Amino acid sequence: MPLLAAYTPPHWEVTHTDEIVQKVDFNKKVDLVGITANTAAAPHAYWIAAEYRKRGIKVVIGGPHATLMPDEVQDHADSVVVGEGELVWPKLLADFENGCLQSIYKSCEVPDLQNMPHPRWDLIKGRTYGKGVTIATRGCPFACEYCTIPQMYQRKMRYRPIADIVEELQHMPGKALIFWDDNIGANKVYAKELFKAIAPYKRWWTSQATSEVAFDDEFMELAAKSGCKALFLGWETISQNSLNSANKAHNQVGKYQEIIERFHYYGIAIQAGTVFGFDHDDRSIFRSTVEFYREIGLDSATISVLIPFPNTPLFRRLEAEGRILTKDWSKYNGKKDVVFQPALMSPEELLMGTEWAARQFYSIPSIIERMWKSKTGLWWNIIRNVGYHLALRNFGNIGFNPEEREVISTPSFTKEARW
Ligand code: SF4
Repeated sequence: MPLLAAYTPPHWEVTHTDEIVQKVDFNKKVDLVGITANTAAAPHAYWIAAEYRKRGIKVVIGGPHATLMPDEVQDHADSVVVGEGELVWPKLLADFENGCLQSIYKSCEVPDLQNMPHPRWDLIKGRTYGKGVTIATRGCPFACEYCTIPQMYQRKMRYRPIADIVEELQHMPGKALIFWDDNIGANKVYAKELFKAIAPYKRWWTSQATSEVAFDDEFMELAAKSGCKALFLGWETISQNSLNSANKAHNQVGKYQEIIERFHYYGIAIQAGTVFGFDHDDRSIFRSTVEFYREIGLDSATISVLIPFPNTPLFRRLEAEGRILTKDWSKYNGKKDVVFQPALMSPEELLMGTEWAARQFYSIPSIIERMWKSKTGLWWNIIRNVGYHLALRNFGNIGFNPEEREVISTPSFTKEARW
């Protein structure tokens, strides 16, 4: 939203409501409301839209869910933006001013990211979120079965001019930066030039990449010298069969240990995206994953239940197999609900096993063992791990044992945590 605000003509006055820290003021006098929502937030977005429309205010909905399910979203909004909004947003506003707002806007082109304005982070009130966030690239050349990025960005990689990024980061406060890219290493030639250009500014940064960057020593060295402290790698699973089935064979489980050794050699930590619920996962996957991660000294992991986002190849396959259990999008959260029938266990076992694995991974003995082996960025790595430990220690079904065949309790959704 801050980026779209930057594309808004200056005669518009823009205000932004961040529901994490602010309540929506439905009585505020506004001409047009724009809402962005991912799939889990879609029902809530529809409720907000209905409240505004009851008051006679037109509503535009865009973002990930609108891109995946534009026909459904059209039932809840006066206009829907499909895909990236930058190119169509000024026309949408002009149409609104001229009284001819269309029901759907979809750009034929994708933004080339040249001359991208600075996002209006000044509109974010009440928290520091976003102030250190930018992008260098957009898109990813891969097409994993469960991923929404190919639908969002049409598998077209785009790169910002490096000079623009250097100019922007000089206006960004603080030491830490996040490059909110889907795959900052997709083009290593570009990435290396970027790292060389930002190194003199001595910032610390993190981003997301695919694992094979570990084997390019020049990439790793330049990343480390430019201040890279950690990269999120979408490892997803330690089952090569699952990766192959999910069209993610570019991840090679047999190389994970060497990858982490190479990352740690360069002083860069790994946050491994980890997902349970693939068709080759049975109850043994939970313990074997945690034990493997402890053995190799993994720094941290984002542990989730597989989500078959609507209109992805995974969703279409599971629906054809009669395995989608609900289309209540609020349950497509990856943490508190399972929305499909797993192949080799029950939905309850999958949910409880995922909770168990997260608690085990962030148990104190596991943190000590992993940090001892990692020895990478210890002061912030330990703080981050302990933060996860505190958030998870009372979360979910505490009594679950992945080796017991009987499910010992029904899922409890009373406590929430993010990990
Ligand atoms: S590599 Fe990552 S971002 Fe790219 S398609 Fe696969 S899951 Fe999505």
